[in-house]
Amino acid sequence: KNVADKIAAGEVIERPVSIVKELVENSIDAGADSIVVEIKNGGKSYIRVTDNGCGIPRNEAEVAFLRHATSKIETAKDLNAIETLGFRGEALASIAAVTHTELISKTKDEKIGVKLLIHGSEVLDSSGTGCPDGTTIIITDLFYNTPARQKFLKSDSAESGQIIDFMSQIALAYPNIRFRFINNGNVTFSTTGKGDLLNAILSVYKLSEYKDLVPVNRCDDLGSVTGYISKPSLSRTTRRNQIFFVNGRVVSSKVIERGVTEGYKERLFEGRYPVVFLFIHTDPEKLDVNIHPNKREVRFDDESQIVELVSTAVKEALGTKAAVIEV
Ligand code: ADP
Ligand code: MG
Repeated sequence: KNVADKIAAGEVIERPVSIVKELVENSIDAGADSIVVEIKNGGKSYIRVTDNGCGIPRNEAEVAFLRHATSKIETAKDLNAIETLGFRGEALASIAAVTHTELISKTKDEKIGVKLLIHGSEVLDSSGTGCPDGTTIIITDLFYNTPARQKFLKSDSAESGQIIDFMSQIALAYPNIRFRFINNGNVTFSTTGKGDLLNAILSVYKLSEYKDLVPVNRCDDLGSVTGYISKPSLSRTTRRNQIFFVNGRVVSSKVIERGVTEGYKERLFEGRYPVVFLFIHTDPEKLDVNIHPNKREVRFDDESQIVELVSTAVKEALGTKAAVIEV
């Protein structure tokens, strides 16, 4: 499969959450340590992302909305190994093509920022403006010029549900960044950005019972697993509170699920799922990430080793297996 295909698969702006994802990832790429996301009506009528990152220089603002304005990637292999989140140079162009987009941005070296107004790829206004360092992008009227695609959008609550999930995951993936998420005028959560994962988990998921989480910390030849998991007494009827990160990205993986199940073995009732936040780091060469617009499947070269790593980590954390120090 060539690079162009992979890129094409990922470039689609399917739903509001795709836009939120691209904008937040751009903010992270820009080095922001504070990111505010605000949505209304599931993101269908309004999405705002404000960051305190490096900003876009005034004379580069319009260029940023051109297709392939960036080329951070050369080969298919880089797709897996790439450090920065954005690499397609397509997101802003794709978003601006199907929305009303407003950009306000300023670098710290400039006195005056830039303000752009784009309706369906057409720049209606470009002017100087006073504004703080960083970038704000406001997206309104998603798919206003493609009614056929508008029809495929789900209810406000279904769309906002996906955005809430994404925001929750990204806030955990980056506990060093202060996230604030506002939905229909209410602050859904805000994190401190002070780098403490448990703190971020508690801020995002709020429930006091999450204090029943225990830390996971295991390392072997294959890689490492860290994070927090619940004691068996705290379980759910769905896997919605099971989040797996592999090398910093959220993935879905039956293999990791199997490791978790194995780790809890016989300590859970049928149909109950523990609350699990696991961060796995392993050699990028030993896995294959399949990138879809909305989900990331990961395939490990050695699945049984991953099951072993995860299940052992879980058992150790639950205290059902003493940590053995091998000499
Ligand atoms: P990519 O992220 O793949 O480079 P995008 O279309 O998402 O492509 O963004 C185009 C360019 O606009 C980026 O390469 C970056 O230079 C600039 N940019 C976008 N968002 C921000 C931001 N929040 N802060 C600073 N620069 C940004
Ligand atoms: Mg990008």
